[in-house]
Amino acid sequence: MTDRYWSSFVNELAPYVPGEQPVERGLIKLNTNENPYGPSPAVLAAIKAAASSELRLYPPPGSDALKQAVADYYGLSADQVFVGNGSDEVLAHTFNALLRHSRPVLFADITYSFYPVYCGLYGIEYHTIPLDSALRLDIEPYFCANGGVVVANPNAPTGRFLELSEIERLLIANRDSVVVVDEAYIDFGGESAISLIDDYDNLLVVQTLSKSRSLAGLRVGFALGHPHLVEALNRVKNSFNSYPVSQLAVAGGVAALQDEDYFQYTRQAVMETREFLTTELETRGFDVMPSVANFVFARHERFEGAALTAALRREKMVVRHFQRPRISEYLRITVGTQEQMAQFIDALDRLPA
Ligand SMILES: *Cc1c(COP(=O)(O)O)cnc(C)c1O
Repeated sequence: MTDRYWSSFVNELAPYVPGEQPVERGLIKLNTNENPYGPSPAVLAAIKAAASSELRLYPPPGSDALKQAVADYYGLSADQVFVGNGSDEVLAHTFNALLRHSRPVLFADITYSFYPVYCGLYGIEYHTIPLDSALRLDIEPYFCANGGVVVANPNAPTGRFLELSEIERLLIANRDSVVVVDEAYIDFGGESAISLIDDYDNLLVVQTLSKSRSLAGLRVGFALGHPHLVEALNRVKNSFNSYPVSQLAVAGGVAALQDEDYFQYTRQAVMETREFLTTELETRGFDVMPSVANFVFARHERFEGAALTAALRREKMVVRHFQRPRISEYLRITVGTQEQMAQFIDALDRLPA
């Protein structure tokens, strides 16, 4: 479709396609890596308290309270923190502010499919580097001149983790470009690259409250890095939207970072259930990638990926399937509650062999 009123580049855009948010009731939704536990009660109380006549005011443009809460949580200073309306927005500003150079940006062939979309939006050239046959990331091909490197760690949709020593080698080999580590799933068992920020001024770590803090609907993401990287993001943000984070999101985000007990309890529950799900799938002949995320990526030699996804849907189980080269046999299954996963396994067992 084209339209004579459109800016011409809009004709060329290939927008991201998010997982379905079904309206049908009674489904068990395991397709977009949402957290099954819901936000901390302290978050809901903070949002309710912030829902006042103060909403007539614009929020502080720097989202200072949230920025400070993130800085305090990770032992950084506020000028090492950038916050935005979900990490998707933070990533978009990152591509625009830090990765738009004459050389191509590098990322894996199988990773978060929003990266090529941002490149399309901002006219950034990119090269994809194939994961190895076990869908692991080999860093050697990234040791070349480039316009930036983007790594999701753990990777999506594989769930695989790249060791921090490997991230450090990437940083050392790419002193002339920014290495972005998208840690959307880091709280489910990985080790964050935040500890490397003080040593590498080319490192930008991006995180979100959507997954491990169960706040996908609130839209809070952030980036952590050297103040000169954060300043570039601020310049782009202040040329785009002065108030991307609402007062409610600031209040909820701060409360989420302050409820450590709830965070630990729910992330442990997700990790334990992931191990249960992995074992049950393997018992039934699935080949399951080792995951440190809140999802597993699994295939079965006797089932075709799209057909299995459709059969599960008839059993009220919604999982994600990517009709893309190399991964079309796989299903990506979000880790739900223990009870949901038991129901999921029962549904699998009801399918015709
Ligand atoms: C979910 C996800 C995001 C986006 O998270 P939001 O903060 O909700 O925008 C970014 N990167 C990866 C790899 C994700 O899976």
